Amino acid sequence: MKKPFVTLDKLKEITARYPTPFHLYDERGIRENARRLKQAFAWNPGYREYFAVKATPNPTILKILREEGCGADCSSLTELMLVQEVGFSGSEIMFSSNETPDEEFILAHKLGAVINLDDFTHIDILKDLVGIPETISCRYNPGGKFSISNSIMDSPGDAKYGFTKEQLIEGFTKLMGLGAKHFGLHAFLASNTLTDKYYPALAAVLFHLAAELKEKTGADITFINLSGGVGIPYRPGEHVNHIEAIGEGVRRAYEEILVPSGMGNVALYTELGRYMLGPYGVLVTRAIREKHIYKEYIGVDACAVNLMRPAMYGAYHHITVMGKEDEPADHKYDVVGSLCENNDKFAIDRMLPKVDMGDLLVIHDTGAHGYSMGYNYNGKLRSAEILLREDGSTQMIRRAETPADYFATLRF
Ligand SMILES: *Cc1c(COP(=O)(O)O)cnc(C)c1O
Repeated sequence: MKKPFVTLDKLKEITARYPTPFHLYDERGIRENARRLKQAFAWNPGYREYFAVKATPNPTILKILREEGCGADCSSLTELMLVQEVGFSGSEIMFSSNETPDEEFILAHKLGAVINLDDFTHIDILKDLVGIPETISCRYNPGGKFSISNSIMDSPGDAKYGFTKEQLIEGFTKLMGLGAKHFGLHAFLASNTLTDKYYPALAAVLFHLAAELKEKTGADITFINLSGGVGIPYRPGEHVNHIEAIGEGVRRAYEEILVPSGMGNVALYTELGRYMLGPYGVLVTRAIREKHIYKEYIGVDACAVNLMRPAMYGAYHHITVMGKEDEPADHKYDVVGSLCENNDKFAIDRMLPKVDMGDLLVIHDTGAHGYSMGYNYNGKLRSAEILLREDGSTQMIRRAETPADYFATLRF
């Protein structure tokens, strides 16, 4: 069973200070998880996690991760500005973008970020804008289907990202001609993977490619970036990724492929988002309306603007009715928000204990790609973000939007 990281009593204390809905983050969980990840890759001296900022773009969260040794992976102008404000600089910043506007390349270069090019044509664009830096990374797209043990994980051939292999060979050569001295290689081939084999399989693909690129171009490859994609069990009973086994699987591929190619000092990077924050955030909401028509509905004070994943992907998010954990889940509900969109449903036909008006509901695993995917449809306002500190105190780390925020960009 999924257990929230807060008790009902604690939540009552918190909701007495901060009105629902809000996202609540667990500092202890975030730190412990970041340390486990670091430990799992400690065999690689250059290892670093660059947290995917888009998952949870909050300065306090970013500071916590920076204290745990993480860098930041940005993909837009404001994400770059945000991490600069938090104190990340130079090679602590990875810039992995696509269809990149000029201004973003310019700022990334100014900050000394490691630029991960998404396309062959971006070489000339970067050269003309700011010149080619000494260290540069390129993103690989192998095309076709990516499968592990005969099961298809995703279809890179349909994805808009990355260079083909031929473009990488030509691109590395071209980049060296323009002054690049050190190279990185990056690929992101599957999302929210629930297997300990994803990173090792991806690593093998990238390690073979790195060896081939080194042989064909003579490029000095100094890091390989496994990007994001390690998943979390949104549903109770799903496979829990074992980060030690993942680190060990990558180590074996490294020993088998890179070391014999004379590449035993390549640093490994990751750009995890979901794995770093997903389980350590919840959306706290209150049941405010009930409705009995052809189905039973519970209306809550959060809606899809606070958590878009169910509406957008049909994603499952577990729900705990606080204080009723031990009661039988004998009522079937659609748990819905108030948008004028019938996909604004946090749960469909979900078996829960009887929900009474005023009950607090915890929607699990919203720490990544939760708040950050928010929007303002129906004039709905984005919620606050609250941090539950290790000492049990709480801190508002982003205030809720007010109507004044909504009106700020309008011109009458
Ligand atoms: C979104 C993204 C990530 C993080 O993905 P998760 O699924 O959250 O781990 C990492 N790198 C890049 C380039 C991304 O776009």
